[in-house]
Amino acid sequence: MPFDSHFHLGRLPHPKKLAQILAESGYAYNAVACEPAEWESLWKIWLDLHLRDKGCNIAFGIHPMSVLQAKESHKQELRSFLEQGDSFMVGETGLDRRFPEYSPGGQQEKWFLFQAKLALELKRDLQIHCVGDYGRIISLLKQTGFGKNPNGPRPIFHRFGGDIGIARQILDMNGLISVHPSTLAKKTSRLAVVEIPKERLLFETDADENFWNEADSADASAIAVESIAQRLLDILRDVREAAENL
Ligand SMILES: [Zn+2]
Repeated sequence: MPFDSHFHLGRLPHPKKLAQILAESGYAYNAVACEPAEWESLWKIWLDLHLRDKGCNIAFGIHPMSVLQAKESHKQELRSFLEQGDSFMVGETGLDRRFPEYSPGGQQEKWFLFQAKLALELKRDLQIHCVGDYGRIISLLKQTGFGKNPNGPRPIFHRFGGDIGIARQILDMNGLISVHPSTLAKKTSRLAVVEIPKERLLFETDADENFWNEADSADASAIAVESIAQRLLDILRDVREAAENL
């Protein structure tokens, strides 16, 4: 059964209809809601369509791109959403050098630490986004206590772009590594994927509003939603097959 470990259902057109079509095709996933404005609508789709019974999950969090919109009150709100389902994950959260507040001690780091601690407290896996500094993310995770308990929450490195040395440190922390087509496009990451045990690998599309624009520039219609579902299936199958055939 296809499993997309990271995609932004709420950023694609007609997310509820898309979720219905995906459920009919047996496509399961972790849907990521990483801005406060996305949390409630995704949670409602989850409830209305009984996505839990379809093998899906949700991650609620604050993306490094969005930290300047995040307020203190979002901390309690995030916790409340996470408490609605014991499978729900935290994230995606992390560091990204392309956005403001990237430097050590900045808002990206503060919101990352908050979410990492919340994940440990609630015993939830953590969806991590990293562009720029795997070393800093790994040391922040160790600082907060990830990897100490072999049965504890796992860090999931989405859209992995590191090398084998970084992959080994992630595996040592009981982490999982999620492979996106961009992972395989990078030589050092592709070589790392060959070495990672199969049971520690996940696959993802990371589809969001950009994916929709690429898939179909016309106004979203029922047909467009079906073509998006088909494209998700194709991309996920291709990335999995490509990784397995390395
Ligand atoms: Zn993402």
